[in-house]
Amino acid sequence: MKQDLIEINISHPTTSKISQVDWDNLPFGKVFTDHMLVMDYKNGKWQSPEIVPFGPIPMHPAMSAIHYGQSIFEGMKAYSRENGDVVLFRPEMNAKRFMESCERLCMPAFDEELFVELVRKLVEVDKNWVPKKEGAALYIRPFIFGTDEAIGIKPSDTYKFVIFLCPVGAYYSQPVNVKIEEYYTRAAAGGVGRAKTAGNYAAALYPAKKGQENGYHQLLWTDAKEHKFIEESGTMNICFMINGTLVTPSEDEDTILRGTTKRTLVDVADKWGIPVEERKVSVEEIVKAIEDGTLNEAFGAGTAATIATIVKIGYRDGDFILSEPTEDDFSMKAKKYLDDLKAGKTEDPDGWCL
Ligand code: PMP
Repeated sequence: MKQDLIEINISHPTTSKISQVDWDNLPFGKVFTDHMLVMDYKNGKWQSPEIVPFGPIPMHPAMSAIHYGQSIFEGMKAYSRENGDVVLFRPEMNAKRFMESCERLCMPAFDEELFVELVRKLVEVDKNWVPKKEGAALYIRPFIFGTDEAIGIKPSDTYKFVIFLCPVGAYYSQPVNVKIEEYYTRAAAGGVGRAKTAGNYAAALYPAKKGQENGYHQLLWTDAKEHKFIEESGTMNICFMINGTLVTPSEDEDTILRGTTKRTLVDVADKWGIPVEERKVSVEEIVKAIEDGTLNEAFGAGTAATIATIVKIGYRDGDFILSEPTEDDFSMKAKKYLDDLKAGKTEDPDGWCL
């Protein structure tokens, strides 16, 4: 057994809320478990973490994160298996991304292994909250925000790291309509697009709302400079299957969030002998592939839905309608493979479930 990196003090609420949960009807992100993990940063170092009853966090009106947005987060899930085991899926990737986000936002990073251990400890304490139903999961939200009680633009000297947990139902993603966005921008080169920081999501709300008013669930974000290259789909990475090749924007530039799901799909394609191209993907190329019939599939990839099939792509004044994938298509086969892997129904040769 792996040596624990740290001892954690645990205090429990006087009563558990678990009996109040309607397991057949779990709204996303609104039901919280009994505990949360809290770790403060002060005097130049991270203090001892504690697991405490879930509840409000006291907040000073001048708290730096509210005013200047020094705030980052992660999103991951724990899955329950028939034999009672609870597993995390590639949590070390979230740990790595979290520490990279810290660095970009001038926040104090900490050991990636410790991050995974803290997540695991909290999940262990609330393991009765991991839904048993197929497809359902325990959503894990780790985050850090600056807590200096003073206004003034500079990196905060104090921070709070928190993890809380939400049981969530199976995410049946409807096929989505997306719009190629040629004016608004999610991320510019040199900006913070690669970081999972709060402001990225705030800045996307307005363009996303405009897209929704026109009937599109998500925007296909393009590069900030020329709007010629496709980068992401809403809050998911984007993949295309063109003539039997999995094509997806490369993450070399710092405008794209490095998603665990997309990386896993690329790994799965490699395993299955499907050619993969990670490179710049132009709008022109996708339009041409639709027109000449070589675009077989288009889909978003992310932790929430795993795969969101794209059935309509809006471009300028028109819409392209795509056919829905069948069971034999890559996106559907890969989704089933990953669902089975997480549920423990298939071998896990890569050790992705921990
Ligand atoms: N891009 C953005 C902007 C996101 O917010 C997310 C969700 N974290 C993703 C891509 C997908 O990442 P993952 O597969 O790690 O959930």
